[in-house]
Formats: sequence, structure tokens, C-alpha cells
Amino acid sequence: MQALREFFNSFLLVELLKGMKLTGRHLFSGRFTIEYPEEKAPQSPRFRGLHALRRYPNGEERCIACKLCEAVCPALAITIESEEREDGTRRTTRYDIDLFKCIYCGFCEESCPVDSIVETRIYEYHFENRGEQIINKEQLLAIGDLYEPQLARDRAMDAPYR
Ligand code: SF4
Ligand code: SF4
Repeated sequence: MQALREFFNSFLLVELLKGMKLTGRHLFSGRFTIEYPEEKAPQSPRFRGLHALRRYPNGEERCIACKLCEAVCPALAITIESEEREDGTRRTTRYDIDLFKCIYCGFCEESCPVDSIVETRIYEYHFENRGEQIINKEQLLAIGDLYEPQLARDRAMDAPYR
């Protein structure tokens, strides 16, 4: 019986007609594609792109070198070294992220008690030389300084859900 049904289905081009029906249904509906890079897809405030280190409004870096982000990183992408400053506070002397190892899981951001390490909305970047994928503290702070208004807005929007 099954074989007979399959024979008639192929003889009467049923599968082809089903396909044409589906095509016809979408022929005049709105398009789903966008013309990247002129058009950008909408982004969530939780978008996980390139990393940044943030500062407080007085310019002091937020990171207290607790190393929670380093410990939680499943890809072992973060390397931190730290030392005590003259005022008794602890700060990082080295903060590297290997972006080839990073899987953009967001765990570092989630674990940070002072909202220091964050992931920005930046996803368009590339490297031209070996070693450039390791982004250091100065670079991370510079990205944070550049995008702080957006980063603060995104954190504020996400705050009710954290
Ligand atoms: S996003 Fe995930 S993988 Fe990347 S540095 Fe943070 S914790 Fe590690
Ligand atoms: S970025 Fe946050 S979690 Fe990582 S060492 Fe600094 S304060 Fe700790």
C-alpha cells in the first residue's frame, strides 16, 4: 500500500506541487534578508561581542583583580597578573584575553562583581598579524572608554533581569 501511494505521489508530481505551493506562499511576503553591511540586524543589549574594561566616572578602573573572570572562563582565555598599589588597593598589572580561545559565553561578564569586564556590541573586527588576537589591558580600557555611554545604557536596561 505504501509503495502504491509513493508511486502515485511521484507520478502526479505531488512533492513538486507541494514545493511550488510553499514557494508561492513566500513569493510576495516581506523579505527576511538585510543588505549587510549597509543595513545592520537589530542587537540585544545583551549582545556578546568584543570585550572591554570599564572605569568609574572619576576615571578609576573598576577592576579589583579578584580574578573571578579568569577562574570562570571555560576557554582559559583570560590571563591576569596583579599587585598591591601604594594605597593598599589591588589592581591588575596584566589583563590579557586571547580572542581566538574565547567562545563569547559571557561568563566573565556575569562573574564580575564590579561590572568591569563586559562584552560590547562590536562584532566587526579582524587581525592582520600573528599575536594581535591577544588583547591587553590598555586596549580593553581604551575600548571601554570609547563605548562607555553605550555600555552603561546596556547595563541599565539589563539590570532588572540580573
Ligand atoms: S566570554 Fe567566555 S570564553 Fe570569552 S573570555 Fe569571557 S568567560 Fe572566557
Ligand atoms: S574584571 Fe571583574 S571579575 Fe575580572 S578580575 Fe577584574 S574585578 Fe575580578
